[in-house]
Amino acid sequence: MLDKARKIVIKIGSNTISNSKGFINEHFIKNLCEEVAFLKQKGKEIIIVTSGAKISGISAINKWSRKSDINYKQALCAIGQVRLLNSYDKYFAEYGINIGQILLTRDDFYDSDRMLNIRNTLFTLIDEGVVPIINENDTVCVKELKIGDNDTLASYTAKLWNADLLIILSDIAGLYNKNPKEYADAELIEQVTDIEDIIRHTDTSNKTNEFGTGGIKTKLEAAKICNDYDIDMILASGKEEDVLLKLYENTLKCTCFIAENHS
Ligand code: ADP
Repeated sequence: MLDKARKIVIKIGSNTISNSKGFINEHFIKNLCEEVAFLKQKGKEIIIVTSGAKISGISAINKWSRKSDINYKQALCAIGQVRLLNSYDKYFAEYGINIGQILLTRDDFYDSDRMLNIRNTLFTLIDEGVVPIINENDTVCVKELKIGDNDTLASYTAKLWNADLLIILSDIAGLYNKNPKEYADAELIEQVTDIEDIIRHTDTSNKTNEFGTGGIKTKLEAAKICNDYDIDMILASGKEEDVLLKLYENTLKCTCFIAENHS
């Protein structure tokens, strides 16, 4: 699937970008940048949607980690966003690749002028070989105004850019018939061709992650948004070394959500 796609959005989840101590996993970012450089050489166009601003902020100012009021959370994201993008910038620079930061809110996707501006910026960046890195603009969003989760943001981005493929990297190998963290006998579903049927039959009531977002529910919703627009989606483990390379070579078990016209 990845070998055939040209326009690819890659979404990095907060569990993927952090290590077991709750800090940013620099090794992961380095490995990702190396793989994106490889894919670009193969003629792929890439947009990254990345979580991790808050975790980076906590790494910078740990004494704020327990502050629960929204101002501090947003301030942590503002601090962390810089650190996060610095890491991407540092590792992409090793391959001579520039990055461009785009911070978006829900309103941006409901305003045709803004949509046009975002699209034009994305196309210009990509035409010039730059890798756009997108995140939600946490500073201007309160809960009620948020896109909610970067799975959703990534699917909106894939739709807006007419991507061929969205890859969601999480901390599990793909979609299972039940939560693999709770059930040792959970089985991986390698191919989904009827997303609506899967949504009907998957228990999505499970808890969200420790950052209070996502879970499997938003990933299935993202797959539906993509598949409805003829965009395929892959859910794979970002904990796997060289994950994109393995997906490119078709050697990694994951879940492929295949749009109706491609199945
Ligand atoms: P991310 O930070 O990568 O967005 P999340 O923690 O939001 O990841 O979502 C992934 C989690 O969803 C997995 O770690 C897993 O515990 C949970 N999950 C619940 N049900 C399922 C399922 N049926 N298949 C796969 N993962 C599931």
